[in-house]
Amino acid sequence: MVLKIGVIGTGAIGQDHIRRITNKLSGGKIVAVTDVNKEQAKAIVETQNLDAKIYDDGHELIKAEEVDAVVVTSWGPTHEEFVLAAIEVGKPVFCEKPLAITAEGCKKIVEAEIATGKSLVQVGYMRRYDTGYRALKNVIESGKIGEPLIVHCAHRNPTVPDTYTGDMAIVDTFIHEIDVLRWLLNDDYVSVQIVAPRKTSNALEHLQDPLIVLLETKQGIRINAEIFVNCQYGYDIQCQVVGETGIANLPEPSSVVLRSEAKLSTEILVDWKDRFIDSYDTELQDWINSTLKGEVNGPTAWDGYVAAVTSDACLEAKESGNIVQISLEKRPEFYNKNLVVVEKI
Ligand code: NAP
Repeated sequence: MVLKIGVIGTGAIGQDHIRRITNKLSGGKIVAVTDVNKEQAKAIVETQNLDAKIYDDGHELIKAEEVDAVVVTSWGPTHEEFVLAAIEVGKPVFCEKPLAITAEGCKKIVEAEIATGKSLVQVGYMRRYDTGYRALKNVIESGKIGEPLIVHCAHRNPTVPDTYTGDMAIVDTFIHEIDVLRWLLNDDYVSVQIVAPRKTSNALEHLQDPLIVLLETKQGIRINAEIFVNCQYGYDIQCQVVGETGIANLPEPSSVVLRSEAKLSTEILVDWKDRFIDSYDTELQDWINSTLKGEVNGPTAWDGYVAAVTSDACLEAKESGNIVQISLEKRPEFYNKNLVVVEKI
């Protein structure tokens, strides 16, 4: 059984996903693509040697008969309309983050999905598929470190382009911690405060960098997270969970231990794509496998909504310096059950 996939948006991550589905993963075939830049979509079909139809518009692609499922990798502000359109025709959809650029937009998607009674939406929070985070979650759930009390983490990028805005530190960068930490701890957030230490001389004029985010969870776990996007030395993701009886650290990516020039060293990656390349593969393979079975196993539309509510609170906290409450209604029953409700493809 092959999942026939239509891809909306053939930019950087769209091309990556097309390549991995075509050359690396099994069970999926790209049968349709579209991009506002039609020449780019054409070029991808040609260079990747795809047997895929090029559509003028995402809505046509979603409705196309040959398309079983949709991957949305277009520009963030377009995600909401494409995910809603896929839900409307009952097609499974994998949407890169963000699910929508507002919490309100994510809520609309949640409501539309619940209304169909079918589990259709997965959001591209790939860190949940990282072997290191999975190992860390296993340790926490094994009880080996007792109940988690504190989490110390860091998200460091070597540099960012001039187009990077202050809000992107939350909505593009920290959003991954927002999702993965609540999954890791099986918890939700209740408040956030953001404080700014001395600014690095390497940040652009408009950018306060680094930032420290202080989150509190429902269970009372305190998280402190450093966002430092001009750290110069590498792309470095750190996460340490302090429990009642022990401490668990996110494993470092594997790398050769080098003895050379009177130094013992290991390489630090500089590109986020290299750090999480395996997670993207695992994530998309899992999406293909579960979609063929009529299931959604990964981050749901509800998770996309929670990420949006939390990032809105973070933006407010960054602006005001105050402690901002994060209030979420109860998770709908729809997202509590293990749904196998989509017709198998
Ligand atoms: P990108 O290179 O700018 O690609 C987006 C592509 O979508 C561009 O080719 C853009 O065309 C096209 N597009 C815009 N509106 C469209 C529409 N209405 N219909 C069809 N295509 C449309 O951006 P990217 O880096 O690939 O990012 C795409 C999305 O993936 C973003 O939401 C981003 O946050 C997310 N992402 C997630 C991760 C992750 O770690 N999970 C990593 C990277 C990106 P133009 O360039 O002509 O506007």
